[in-house]
Amino acid sequence: MQTNENPEAVTIIGLGPMGQAMAQVFLDNRHPTTVWNRTAAKADALVAQGAIRAETVQQALAASRLVILSLTDYQAMYQLLSPATGALSGRLLVNLSSDTPQEARKATQWAARYGAQFLSGGVMVPPPLIGKPGAFVFYSGSRAILEAHQSTLSRIGKADFRGEDPGLAQLYYQALLDIMFTSAASVLHAIALIRSAGIPAVTFGPYVQDFLAFLPELFQDVAEEVDKGQYKGAFNNMNMMAAGMSHVAQASRDANINTSLPQAIKQLYDETIRMGYGQDGLTSLIEILKKP
Ligand code: NDP
Repeated sequence: MQTNENPEAVTIIGLGPMGQAMAQVFLDNRHPTTVWNRTAAKADALVAQGAIRAETVQQALAASRLVILSLTDYQAMYQLLSPATGALSGRLLVNLSSDTPQEARKATQWAARYGAQFLSGGVMVPPPLIGKPGAFVFYSGSRAILEAHQSTLSRIGKADFRGEDPGLAQLYYQALLDIMFTSAASVLHAIALIRSAGIPAVTFGPYVQDFLAFLPELFQDVAEEVDKGQYKGAFNNMNMMAAGMSHVAQASRDANINTSLPQAIKQLYDETIRMGYGQDGLTSLIEILKKP
């Protein structure tokens, strides 16, 4: 447990850019910080600043009750910890790696079998923003366990507790990444379309910025409309949108660039219309998207 004079000891397993950034903020805040990484050299700069290098995963687990995992996925956790389950008893594993809600639920049970507590988390900022204002992390699992370690974990970013179901942090995390990954693909596809006419991306850049800034207004009522099942189409209905979407797809075809993204969206629009939502608004897409 942490007090101002006696910061809580922390172990970090996994020193990609994210694990390194987290170890750095713990060191900056004088937490005894033990680090371990498969590629040992990634710990060197942290050790030079006072981090303790664990030579083995067992040593890393023994060094602190609070063990933070920052790995590519949960599979990496099993690969690392399965040979070291004898050292798990009494530990609190806080897995801040990306994976699915189901994996987080399974991992909570897996840890319990070896006497370890488990919290799942999703870090919502890139490494340079760790520990900075605006940084936040979704957590789920036991609220009591999170609260007991919240002051330490808040070094990474504000702790946003989503619920006792261990899967909820990953659910929120993956839902936001769903937006990020598909948005990135759409922005880059639009840039490919512009560049197909010999126009540099930087000429288009300001339009991208302005358009993205306008999106919050466009999406203002989305959540409410979906919850009510009322998809207002007075100003822009699905029939018009689907025609517009086919123009994006055809323009892409004419430009001889990849059309898989606009075609996929067009298909979703067409299915929504086939279900009878042609006169409804864009939010009626949920009727297709909520199904398998
Ligand atoms: P990286 O993929 O760069 O680093 C992953 C870490 O996992 C490395 O330390 C790597 O070890 C280790 N690792 C992967 N597989 C294994 C394995 N089988 N056995 C042992 N170690 C393994 O990821 P990041 O540091 O960028 O991110 C860590 C987590 O945080 C990810 O789940 C990511 O989705 C999430 N995240 C990342 C963000 C970002 O912007 N970077 C933002 C928000 C969340 P080695 O060094 O030896 O390869």
